[in-house]
Amino acid sequence: MREDQRSGTLSPAEEKAIQEELRQSGASCPRCRAAFRTTPIPPRGDVAYVRTRVLVECDRCGLRAALDLK
Ligand SMILES: [Zn+2]
Repeated sequence: MREDQRSGTLSPAEEKAIQEELRQSGASCPRCRAAFRTTPIPPRGDVAYVRTRVLVECDRCGLRAALDLK
């Protein structure tokens, strides 16, 4: 259980909260409250249905996740 939390995976609730924050101004880490570094992930050319994906990374605790933005 504890290893799960340290591996940098987000719970569905955490993901949703970060997506909400990204839509407004900027997201911060739910674990340590540091500001996330965000990197847009370019859409793949072979996928007709284009989604906006963003990689969020926390420099302080190492949490990182790729999130879909609608
Ligand atoms: Zn963090």
